[in-house]
Amino acid sequence: MAQIGTEQNPVRVAIVGAGPSGFYAAEHILKDGDVHAQVDLFDRLPTPFGLVRGGVAPDHPKIKSVIRVYEKTAAREGFRFFGNVKVGHDVEVEDLERLYHAIVFTVGCETDRRLGIPGEELPGSHAATAFVGWYNAHPDYAGEEFDLSCERAVVIGNGNVAMDVARMLALTDHELRQTDTADHAIEMLDRSRVREVVVLGRRGPAQAAFTNPEVKELGEMEDADVVVDPADVELDPASREFIESDEADKTSRVNVEILREFAQRQPSGKRKRIVLRFLASPVEIQGDGRVEKIVIGRNELVDEDGTLRARDSGEREELECGLVLRSVGYTGIPIEGVPFDGGRGLILNEGGRVLDSHDAGHKVGHYAAGWIKRGPSGVIGTNKKDALETVRHLLADIADGKLLAPESPDPAAVESLLAERGVRFVSFEDWEAIDQAEVGRGEPHGRPRVKFVRVEEMLETLGEKVSG
Ligand code: NAP
Repeated sequence: MAQIGTEQNPVRVAIVGAGPSGFYAAEHILKDGDVHAQVDLFDRLPTPFGLVRGGVAPDHPKIKSVIRVYEKTAAREGFRFFGNVKVGHDVEVEDLERLYHAIVFTVGCETDRRLGIPGEELPGSHAATAFVGWYNAHPDYAGEEFDLSCERAVVIGNGNVAMDVARMLALTDHELRQTDTADHAIEMLDRSRVREVVVLGRRGPAQAAFTNPEVKELGEMEDADVVVDPADVELDPASREFIESDEADKTSRVNVEILREFAQRQPSGKRKRIVLRFLASPVEIQGDGRVEKIVIGRNELVDEDGTLRARDSGEREELECGLVLRSVGYTGIPIEGVPFDGGRGLILNEGGRVLDSHDAGHKVGHYAAGWIKRGPSGVIGTNKKDALETVRHLLADIADGKLLAPESPDPAAVESLLAERGVRFVSFEDWEAIDQAEVGRGEPHGRPRVKFVRVEEMLETLGEKVSG
């Protein structure tokens, strides 16, 4: 076989999932000085950027400015975007194996982890992933309904997503209307009667997963007081010892300082309250046909192999509420034909090389990067380094000739296949037209954009410009 990766025989790579790790993987491949590559980036949505568009809170526009970096990648020679193409539905992994030398899966962790407690499925109890998708105009969640007619909402979990959803429930209409929050969500949140948002952390302030700016922001809300019981920031001896030791990371130490400062505050009479509780686990969600209250178990911390973990003390408390948002992390969804580690909710891989099974070697030509490779952790930038590790392995495998042997490596073959199957794919140019239309809709209202919610609306905007 002729050497792949030369100007005459460029390596053809399919990347599945156009979130941050997909774009970083594309960037690393395309900017390599030694290998000539063509990258086709697929996404099931017509819109690129994954959680930067559909996850990052609308009141955090600065975080979204990373999109400029991805636009530069999209402008590189050899890059193509195939939006509105679902791998596993419109095309199968087997199809990609016939068309590309390598496939990189960067599909993220698309669903929520479960609590496994009674009442979790009651109407009024939702995964935070659904709430986040709903307020961010993700087409999958356009039809979700959240009953905001109750006085108290409970958010379970102590990560940054919990911070985001608590804040979104407490922003004023004025604050929301400056953002690109979905119109349907702005309307509902404007009419919300939620006055108290209780956030439950199963461990203590020193073990919280949120980061400093995100928790600090709760103390700076226009119309919401933050409330922390001083008893909750009294650390247990083991946490105190940890926080005062050299082992403690700066984030945990500063989190504790911020929470101690919150605990000293007197409520200033703002319309809403965000109450941060610790050592509190949901034990059961109860209600007659819908959420009416949550049973909370009081935890104590116990040392398990050097990690302080929550253990149920047996003490119980009931809290009335009408809405529960479960924000206890994300997990991956298996893709037909791709080995999956069900226990960890990830594609089975070693450093980004997909493995055939736990004790077998590399499934040649198959790679993973981002959350579906390492789990749902870190900030957006973490995925840059993560994708680099995967791409380094890919480049080494190209040099060693360990690649798939596609029957049709012609770049036009994928377009023909999609045309044959009647799939209206969205190119990057098409996306730019959708983008401009959204920005144009926002301008009269002084908003960054007004997002389209339904895929059909996006395609209609393109009119005859739709490719495929
Ligand atoms: P996360 O950071 O992993 O937090 C999950 C939280 O859920 C932890 O507090 C965890 O507690 C808790 N939890 C897990 N199982 C539980 C259970 N059964 N009962 C009660 N609590 C439970 O996940 P995330 O908030 O979904 O965020 C995902 C990633 O995205 C993180 O890396 C996050 O930093 C990032 N992110 C960043 C931003 C930002 O930079 N602004 C915004 C959003 C998300 P334990 O610690 O006890 O396990």
